[in-house]
Amino acid sequence: MKQVIQDSLDSVEYAQKEVLAIGCMLLDKGLVSGTWGNVSTRIPDADCIAVTPSGKPYHELKFENIVIVDKTGNVIRGDFKPTSELSLHLTIYKARPDIKAIVHTHSVFASACAVAHRSIPPIIEDLVQLAGGSIDVAPYALPGTAELALNAVNTLGNKQAVLLANHGVVGCGRSLPEAFIACELVEKAAQIYIHANILGGAKTLSPADVKVMHDLYLNSYQKHP
Ligand code: 13P
Ligand code: ZN
Repeated sequence: MKQVIQDSLDSVEYAQKEVLAIGCMLLDKGLVSGTWGNVSTRIPDADCIAVTPSGKPYHELKFENIVIVDKTGNVIRGDFKPTSELSLHLTIYKARPDIKAIVHTHSVFASACAVAHRSIPPIIEDLVQLAGGSIDVAPYALPGTAELALNAVNTLGNKQAVLLANHGVVGCGRSLPEAFIACELVEKAAQIYIHANILGGAKTLSPADVKVMHDLYLNSYQKHP
C-alpha cells in the first residue's frame, strides 16, 4: 500500500488539500463550530480515503495533517487520529460506490429538524434536484458508533443527504464540492421549511415533479461546455 501511495502522490496531496479547504469552508460558512464535523474523499488512484483528523481546528492544520486510511480504516499516512466518525464515512463508501466524498456538519436549522426528528420534505428546487426527495432522519445512536453508521446508511438509501437524530447532517457527492453543496442546501432547505411552517405550512412538491428535477440534475444540469 505504501508503494501505491508513493506512486499516486499527486492525487493523495490533491485530496488532502481539497479536504482541508472544504473543512475550512465549513467553519467560514457557519455549518460547524469549533472542531466538530468531518470531511472525506476517496482517492481512487491509491485505493484509499483522505479524511479530517479528530478534534483538530481546520484553520490550524496543514494539508499533511489530513489522514490517509485504507478502506477498512487502517491509517496509512498522518500523525493524527482520523475522525471519530470514520465508520460513518467507511460504511457509506462501502454501500454506495457512486459516492466519492462525504461531509458531516452540525448546521443549526438542519440540526433543529434532526432534534425534532422531522424529515425535510421535498419543498425547494435546488435541494430536490440534488437529493431527489425528502431528507430523512436516521434513528438516534451515539456519535462515533457503528450503530450510528448503520442507521445513517439505511436511512440515506440512494439519496445524497441524511439527518442524524439529535446530531446533524451528512451530505454525500460525486465530488467534494458536491458533498459540501449537499450540506449547504440541506441547511438552506431546513431554514426555509421552518420559516414556511411559521407562515402557515410548507407545501410539498409532487413526486412526479421531484423526479423530473432530480433526473435533470443527474443527466443534464451543469453539463454544457
Ligand atoms: P471529529 O472531530 O472526531 O471528526 O468528530 C466531530 C463530530 O462531529 C462527531 O460526530
Ligand atoms: Zn457530528
